[in-house]
Amino acid sequence: MADRYQSFTRTAPGRFLTRRLGLPQPAPLRRWSAEQPLLDGPVLHLTAGKPAPGLAPVLARTGLDVRTGDAERPAAVLVDATGVRTVEALAGVHGALHPVVRSIADSGRVVVLGAPLDPSDHHQSAVQQGLEGFVRSLGKEIGRGRTVNLVRLTDAAAAESTLRFLLSPRSAFVDGQVIEVDAAEVTAPEDWDRPLAGRTALVTGAARGIGAAVAETLARDGAHVVVLDVPRAEDEARALAGRLGGTALGLDVTAADAADRIASALPDGRLDVLVHNAGITRDRRLVNMPAERWSSVLDVNLASVLHTTDALLAQGLIPRGGRITATASIAGIAGNSGQTNYAASKAGVVGLVRALAPRALAEHGVTVNAVAPGFIETRMTAAVPLMIREAGRRMNSLAQGGLPVDVAETHAWFASPASGGVNGQVVRVCGQSMLGA
Ligand code: NAD
Repeated sequence: MADRYQSFTRTAPGRFLTRRLGLPQPAPLRRWSAEQPLLDGPVLHLTAGKPAPGLAPVLARTGLDVRTGDAERPAAVLVDATGVRTVEALAGVHGALHPVVRSIADSGRVVVLGAPLDPSDHHQSAVQQGLEGFVRSLGKEIGRGRTVNLVRLTDAAAAESTLRFLLSPRSAFVDGQVIEVDAAEVTAPEDWDRPLAGRTALVTGAARGIGAAVAETLARDGAHVVVLDVPRAEDEARALAGRLGGTALGLDVTAADAADRIASALPDGRLDVLVHNAGITRDRRLVNMPAERWSSVLDVNLASVLHTTDALLAQGLIPRGGRITATASIAGIAGNSGQTNYAASKAGVVGLVRALAPRALAEHGVTVNAVAPGFIETRMTAAVPLMIREAGRRMNSLAQGGLPVDVAETHAWFASPASGGVNGQVVRVCGQSMLGA
């Protein structure tokens, strides 16, 4: 799993050689740690056009060192472009970032705030859509482990959890994304360091890999975690649950009685956060793919997600304020040779999220979102042949693979009680992969 190329570029001869050859220079990414939970440096808050009402108090509440004037080496720059409605006003975004972009610290953040497109005003729609091209291009050129994302918001107050996430080391591998935050009643957690205290979360496929990182991250955030995995991985699931003070559940998610078994494993009879992470691949080109390989992937990755979600919602086990998060994949967005079954299942997850999100919110007060990981360093990707693995790792703006914790942090942001305005989103955690971008 070690990224030897990245280690080589950090040696003196490696740096010399790879620079001479014009090869990628993956920068070390700053990730969350208990000792260093925040980015190191101030957040520069700039505005193009009319400012978003209510944004300043939200930023003040985050406790970040927000400056509107001078900041020599900002760790992040937040550009409020919500009020940009004309091409002339769009120039204010260039004017704000052009002088400061060079000074942004390594592993820093650029977050541009936009507004939802106004269908009655094609000038506003044009320039607000223009921000997408701007953000995606700056993400590709900025380098040094720095990321660039766009948040379209209606109400600044509902965006607090999203701003805290994007302006922190937790979003290290989230790059080039467009995230919509709706107006919503937001429940701020009593303690932002333990937003899931008193809540129960269940993570499928959590004995290892990304699922184990999700379980650890939700437990760090205060949740009681039910660690679900197939019966043959029950020992690992039990060991992890023991470490996290959670509960283990040996269960195949495709079992006919999966939802009932989940219901009876819940310590308080309610599930606040449901994370669909279990997934398998059975790669073959379509010409060589027997029906069994097709259906085993569709059963685990999509049918079980549909059935358990429906049953748990229908039984009223997910209370108001509950969160359902699922794991898609960039393969479901871009397609991938040899993965017609896998890509169909993951694109299916995207379809499920988009259709269910508004209904689940209206009927149950529950949000539904998905993470679409790109190349993540796991056993799954370690088994990929060398040349394909290297291409997957490097073909993104950060020129490296992500870590399971990067996917986990994104699930944790969706899971926060303060993320009620984040619904129906599919956020890629891919370092702005070129695939399907
Ligand atoms: P992994 O193979 O390391 O872990 C998957 C876990 O799911 C295993 O513990 C496995 O036992 C469990 N599982 C499989 N079938 C199950 C079933 N029927 N019931 C219960 N548990 C079951 O995989 P990973 O790399 O950690 O991937 C986790 C998720 O992320 C998957 O949905 C995968 O498709 C998705 N994903 C991974 C990557 C990547 O780069 N690794 C990229 C995109 C998407």
